[in-house]
Amino acid sequence: MSWHEWRNAPRGDYAVIGDPIGHSKSPQIHTAAYRELGLDLSYEAIRVPEGEFSEAVNHLAQFGYRGLNVTVPLKEHAFAWCRTVAPEAAPLRALNTIDLQTGTGTSTDGEGFFAALAATLTRCPFQRILLIGAGGSARAVAFAAETRGFSGSVWNRTPSRAEALVADLDRFEITTTLDPTGFNLIINCTSLGLMGEAVPLPFELADPDALVSDLAYGPASLPFLEPAREHGLTTVDGLGMLVHQAALAFSWWTGLEAPIAVMHKAAQ
Ligand code: NDP
Repeated sequence: MSWHEWRNAPRGDYAVIGDPIGHSKSPQIHTAAYRELGLDLSYEAIRVPEGEFSEAVNHLAQFGYRGLNVTVPLKEHAFAWCRTVAPEAAPLRALNTIDLQTGTGTSTDGEGFFAALAATLTRCPFQRILLIGAGGSARAVAFAAETRGFSGSVWNRTPSRAEALVADLDRFEITTTLDPTGFNLIINCTSLGLMGEAVPLPFELADPDALVSDLAYGPASLPFLEPAREHGLTTVDGLGMLVHQAALAFSWWTGLEAPIAVMHKAAQ
């Protein structure tokens, strides 16, 4: 997929920034939406090294860009850069969507996760969630879960990070054992799948009706989801989340309803 270094980026309307950025499907997802709705807008993928965030974003704003999606490792930098943060994103201390014209930021990751589940399932009857990981995406999913009245436990390799997350939540507690017993939604929010690995969860102990999800999609989701499937559990990867967080960003920027089906097709 084509991408640009920020200093060489062409003029444009919207972009996703991160490092690395060549793997991002966001340009094809947003471009499909523009095409479907007849919008004369462009969407680029632009590499921005971590130490150059402010310089790059200020340059892109002056260069005419209206909005940016932000991915690894820049989401915390986006939070620090924005003059105003949407109330739902304030506790996250990380953003994935910026309006460059107003200096406002928001996060669509957590809402995107649950919107994807709602689109896949006829109902989302989750009471107890096991969240594995305590990084930026786990934080976004946990806050979105709490606003829906769900509760659960957080496990993380580095327990202090899980403690810091649950300290900001009312309905989640820390767990130090990898045990799926009693949870009806199990979400892998670690980046381990990108290395072809997964935390060793004993799926044989899981409720047979539990839904097992990985925020990663494609091959990176397999190390966690394949063993779950082998134990007869229903699984869902992060592709739907990717599409729905993009759709929410699209609507936030344009005020238009996102053509989800077209965006979903473009992501595959
Ligand atoms: P972060 O870097 O913020 O967090 C990474 C998490 O993975 C931490 O909890 C970290 O634990 C854990 N981890 C990393 N290596 C190991 C390891 N060897 N063993 C155990 N745990 C480990 O990443 P994000 O939260 O931003 O992203 C996490 C995943 O979610 C990625 O796969 C990403 O691609 C995916 N994602 C998908 C989205 C979508 O739209 N589908 C959107 C956003 C993210 P520790 O704290 O101990 O380091």
